[in-house]
Amino acid sequence: MAEFRRDVLTGNWVVVGFKRKETRNTGVCPFCPGNEHLTPSSIREMRDGQGLWLSRCFSAANPVFQIEVSENKRAEGFYDKMGTLGAHEIIVEDRSHKKTFSTFELSDVARVVDMYAERICDLKKDRRFRYIQVFKNHGEIAGSFLFHPHSHVLATPIVPHQLSLELTNSKNHYLQKERCLLCDVVSQEIRQHSRVVTVTDHFLVVCPFASRLAFEVWIVPRRHNPSFESWLHEAVRRDFIEVYLDTMRRIERLRGSYSIVIHTSPNRVTQYFGEQDLQIDDYFHWHVEILPRDPSSSTYKREDEFYTVSLMPEEAAAMLKGEES
Ligand SMILES: [Zn+2]
Ligand SMILES: [Zn+2]
Ligand SMILES: [Zn+2]
Repeated sequence: MAEFRRDVLTGNWVVVGFKRKETRNTGVCPFCPGNEHLTPSSIREMRDGQGLWLSRCFSAANPVFQIEVSENKRAEGFYDKMGTLGAHEIIVEDRSHKKTFSTFELSDVARVVDMYAERICDLKKDRRFRYIQVFKNHGEIAGSFLFHPHSHVLATPIVPHQLSLELTNSKNHYLQKERCLLCDVVSQEIRQHSRVVTVTDHFLVVCPFASRLAFEVWIVPRRHNPSFESWLHEAVRRDFIEVYLDTMRRIERLRGSYSIVIHTSPNRVTQYFGEQDLQIDDYFHWHVEILPRDPSSSTYKREDEFYTVSLMPEEAAAMLKGEES
């Protein structure tokens, strides 16, 4: 029986005892039209005029987290553990098996982005979920063995480690300076301009100052907004869809494998965030992190090793900018 256990030194939650079901590789893509019977039934579909699905979302066939598992928080001596309560959904982004981001139309990106927002909003209604994570891995080096374009949605009763670090640092910055950390990053990057890939009315696309991987890129709204799923205006949504497609086209010219992760605010309807965290909307600022992978970045790396990148973020930004056609 799988369970969450908390490491006392790092505070990290780990899933132990998860057994992956044996999946026979039949050479048939379960995400292709006509093979819907190979996946669980859809939670949500977006269809065209003829009623054919264009994107569909369903529960993962072999989920790490399960909605019917009890949270069952308990102790073993002074250690903490709990059930692997959660949700794990797959979004098949398009009917076509072969499409990648650079061949997506704006309408395809819009559909996927809307599906992300919809699933986040829906899962945030469940008070048991503290965080909804949306990510996409593309290419075998990024850990995706199914080529068909798809993304993952995870809802968990804990905030993932990387996001907790971002929340803590953003909160500390806010408490000291009464300003949002990422708002400060946006103004500094636009002023310095050396790592900027693109700037539009509503978004900044930038290679972060301390990029972990070559061509790492963040897409950050220029005006403060804590949640990806709550667009302030239609103009912001439209701008994001264009910026997102443009950025991914630039990335795909240079890297065939990548991970994309959306960092949005944690769930505030949950019982876990009390009065003391009401400022979360003031100090957390949503963004998308794109982490391109290349064969050298996939080699074994110790957990506590520093990231080392030969390419300077400033050079990466220039190359991403210059590759514009
Ligand atoms: Zn397929
Ligand atoms: Zn901000
Ligand atoms: Zn982040």
